[in-house]
Amino acid sequence: QKIRLGIIYGGKSSEHEVSLRTAMSIMQAVDANKYEVTPVYVQLDGSWVTGERLTGQLPDKIEALRLSAKTPAITEATETGQELAVTSKSGSLFAMNEQMDVVFPVVHGPFGEDGTIQGLLELANIPYVGTGVMASAVGMDKWMMKTVFAQAGLPQVKYVGLLRSQWEKGQDDVMDRIERDLGYPCFVKPANMGSSVGINKAKNREELKHALEVAAKFDRRLIVEEFVQARELEIGVLGNEELMTSVVGEVIAAKEFYDYEAKYKGAGTELSIPAIVPGHVSEQIAEIAKQAFQALDGSGLSRVDFFWDEKNDKLYINEVNTMPGFTPFSMYPMLFQAAGVSYSELIDRLVQLAIERHADKG
Ligand code: ADP
Ligand code: MG
Ligand code: MG
Repeated sequence: QKIRLGIIYGGKSSEHEVSLRTAMSIMQAVDANKYEVTPVYVQLDGSWVTGERLTGQLPDKIEALRLSAKTPAITEATETGQELAVTSKSGSLFAMNEQMDVVFPVVHGPFGEDGTIQGLLELANIPYVGTGVMASAVGMDKWMMKTVFAQAGLPQVKYVGLLRSQWEKGQDDVMDRIERDLGYPCFVKPANMGSSVGINKAKNREELKHALEVAAKFDRRLIVEEFVQARELEIGVLGNEELMTSVVGEVIAAKEFYDYEAKYKGAGTELSIPAIVPGHVSEQIAEIAKQAFQALDGSGLSRVDFFWDEKNDKLYINEVNTMPGFTPFSMYPMLFQAAGVSYSELIDRLVQLAIERHADKG
């Protein structure tokens, strides 16, 4: 009997397009003899549509997908002549648990990997791939995540967390504190975004003011970090309570930092898999990644990102991404590919882990 797999994708976030790409890759990769797939598309306006299996070819350029982010997928299909999706009826979550055995939510960012969709699926009593409500929520909020890392004794860069209202009320006090505790250059980030949206580096007070203003547009919770001159190393974690780690990979960005353009439009970004680093570094990364995953009570998958200051041989955990990019050419699947787990095998394992976790809770 086939596993009825629902794939929820799209979503109300700036990572909508990335999600479409991921969803299509998964739909193309799964074995049709093993799975009966139902796509569930969350449009930018938040409405849900569902219908037949997506069948089309993935366009080369992500720009081609931009249209479908604004209109129902059926419109996109007609306009490009590619059967990207056949969407017919509006989705109802509570009807879903009669149609699906397990759901793979591939929605990134706020309203996706932040625990909200996970909460809906809990309520609907459907097993789902990836981290649960708490780990998703903690992993989405960089401030809360850092608090958990600190409590777990994991090495991380110095940081200051603040609220937008604190910034608005006392700009000079805030900047004085940042200059005292961190100095320049520093990085300013909205606590609740992803894909480098709203993140800016500041080299002086003027830039700091600007960076805080930008970040405050995106979120009421803000993080400022000390800047580290470091290589960016990433590792995949797979499992619920018994964890497997992948090989370590490196992101080599041509630009000053690994921003949205670099991440998703391939603007001079290179992935090096496996990363060329000494053995003790990759061992330490695997160990810290597992500790971070456990500290968050992760399940299913996460990509854990690090900074490695090669000169001083110092390692810092940057973040846990509970719903990492998941196209076949994204870091997480490629790290496991290099560890001997193919893309479709990875999906199989994640689906099994979702079912096991659901049973475990019961
Ligand atoms: P996101 O969740 O959007 O990926 P990150 O915190 O990973 O946000 O920051 C995005 C990128 O900015 C990183 O991949 C890195 O290139 C750069 N960066 C972030 N924080 C620092 C830091 N403290 N020092 C140096 N570079 C940083
Ligand atoms: Mg992130
Ligand atoms: Mg990151």
